[in-house]
Order: sequence, then structure tokens, then C-alpha cells
Amino acid sequence: MYDVIVIGAGPAGLQTALTLGRMHRSVLVLDSGEYRNGPVAHMHNVVGNDGTPPADFRASARAQLAAYGDVEMRDAAASQVTGERDDFTVELADGTSERARRIVLATGVADALPAVPGLDDLWGRGAYNCPFCDGHEFSGARIGILGATERSAHLIGMLGRIAGEIVVFPLDGTTDPDVMAQLTQAGATVHRAPVTSVGGADGDVTVRTADGDAAVAGLFVAAGSVRQRAPFAEQLGLRMLPSGAIEVDDFGSTSRPGISAAGDLAHRAALPGIMASVIAAAAAGQLAAVGVVRELMVAPAQ
Ligand SMILES: Cc1cc2nc3c(=O)[nH]c(=O)nc-3n(C[C@H](O)[C@H](O)[C@H](O)COP(=O)(O)OP(=O)(O)OC[C@H]3O[C@@H](n4cnc5c(N)ncnc54)[C@H](O)[C@@H]3O)c2cc1C
Repeated sequence: MYDVIVIGAGPAGLQTALTLGRMHRSVLVLDSGEYRNGPVAHMHNVVGNDGTPPADFRASARAQLAAYGDVEMRDAAASQVTGERDDFTVELADGTSERARRIVLATGVADALPAVPGLDDLWGRGAYNCPFCDGHEFSGARIGILGATERSAHLIGMLGRIAGEIVVFPLDGTTDPDVMAQLTQAGATVHRAPVTSVGGADGDVTVRTADGDAAVAGLFVAAGSVRQRAPFAEQLGLRMLPSGAIEVDDFGSTSRPGISAAGDLAHRAALPGIMASVIAAAAAGQLAAVGVVRELMVAPAQ
């Protein structure tokens, strides 16, 4: 019986494990190897690690965790969580199972991109969703926005100070006149021809449309959505927020006793949505670990 099983080893799960390990709580960390920033070459806006490849960041975190005798890392996928506070069972995809007194879910979210040929390959290598993470690299250049939605106007607002020029590519070439007025008022031009595919790489992205190719340095996707990467929120009947994230309190507790959540998959109701960033995920992981330590201190010893 572990004190805690942490499901997920992105920034949220790794930090949760570090904090628990430093408090000598036995912890098993499970990792199925599906990271939200998996395709990204360099992460940004991470103080002390601006420009670090995410894989190097995870490798260095794992190397540091190896020094903590109470932390066990396992490259294995979890498939089911059952039980109650003080006695949870986690079923693994290989048919084995493990038990723990507390569970921290840190399984992140997966991006659902619009069905544009080439976009999956470009994702994280020339196509992005967050100007805080990837805009500055295209300073002064022509930046494209894929999709004409309300989010497009929001993106223009954020990218306006960074880009030399902003071009919006409505997916099917058509735009609601109100949205069109909003986009042009915000300072973008609109390329009104259906998008057929995208390609290229960072700094040299091609948007192919029905009336020819357009070159941009980087592309921001305004028409995507996210979903929970793992089935545990649904399995456990956790209270969810309109954003699709799990509702947590200040210390990462969910609506179900003994289950905490940290990272992209969860946020407090006071926030307008998922605050997707490496630092925010790690900070949430640390708070969730503190919440678990606090609770275990007052719980009867097992
Ligand atoms: C294209 C792109 C670029 C980005 N660039 C930046 C950037 O430059 N800077 C920045 O701060 N943020 C960036 N982000 C956001 C950042 O990637 C996320 O906010 C961060 O990774 C969230 O961390 P997390 O730990 O919550 O989830 P993740 O990093 O997604 O980790 C989820 C973990 O859960 C594991 N997992 C999932 N299901 C299971 C299961 N069933 N069993 C076991 N393990 C499981 C996965 O293997 C993984 O270890 C970017 C996001 C995208 C999409």
C-alpha cells in the first residue's frame, strides 16, 4: 500500500512526486508517455528553462527524483481507479494493480484539432495555440490564425504587439459579417478562400488555400478544443467545470474524498478556464502534494 499513487508524469505529476518524496511519503508515479507538449522542440515562458526541450526537462526531473528513496517511477498506463479514501486500487494496462491511500490525477488533456490536412504534423512545430508559449519567436513576422472565431479576435489582441502582420484564414473561407468586422477592426487581414492543407515548419509555414499558397512564420489555431486525456474523472464521477476540467479547491482536492488533481486537467472554479503552462501545472502539483501531506498527517496511521 503506497501513501499516494500519482497518475501522470508531466510537470504536474513530477512536482507532486518531488514534494511528496521530500516529505518521506511513499509514492508510485505512473506514466503512459503521452505528454501535451510531446511534439514541441523548445518550451518557453518557464523561468530558468526558457527554450529547454520538454523531453530534457522531464529527464532532468526524473534524474533528480531518483535520489528520493520513497519515489518510484513506472512507465505504465493506468486503466481504472476504484475504492475509497485510504484504500484505492489502480488497475494498470498490463493487468496488474497497485493500492494507495490517496490518488493524485495529473493526466493532463489532449488537443482536438480541426480536420485540416497537415495540421497534426505541424502541431507544436509551427502551429500553436498559446501566444504566451510561442509568440515571441515570430516577432515582427507575418503570423497566421487558423479559423475565424471569437478566439481569433482574442489571439489578435495578444499577438498584435508581437507580429508584423496578422492574417486570419477562416477554415471554410466564409466568415460571419460580425466576426469579420471584429477581426479587421482588431487589425488583421482575412484571407477569404477555403484552407485545403498546411505544411512547413517553424518560421516557414505554408497555408494552402483554394486560391493559392500563403506563407507565414507561425500559425495559431483558433478552432480547436481539449478533452480529458484519461477516463478517471468520468469513472470516479468527479465534479466538472464548464471548461471540461475537473473542479478542485485551492489544494487540488476534487469532489471525491482522497482524490486530488493537478495540472491542465483541473482548475479552481474562480478561474475562467484551464491555465495551461508548465509552471502553473508544477505549482498545482506542489499544492496538491501539500494538501495530501496535510490530510495524511491528521488521518489515522495505516
Ligand atoms: C503545442 C503546445 C505547446 C506548448 N508550449 C508550452 C510552452 O512553451 N510553455 C509552457 O509553459 N507550456 C506550454 N504548453 C502547455 C504545457 O504543455 C501544459 O500546460 C503542461 O504540459 C501541463 O502539464 P500536465 O502535467 O498537466 O500534463 P502533461 O504534460 O500533458 O502530462 C500528462 C501526464 O499524464 C500521463 N498520462 C495520461 N494518461 C495516463 C494514463 N492512463 N496512465 C498513466 N499516465 C497517463 C502522460 O503520460 C503524462 O505523463 C504547450 C502546449 C501545447 C499543446
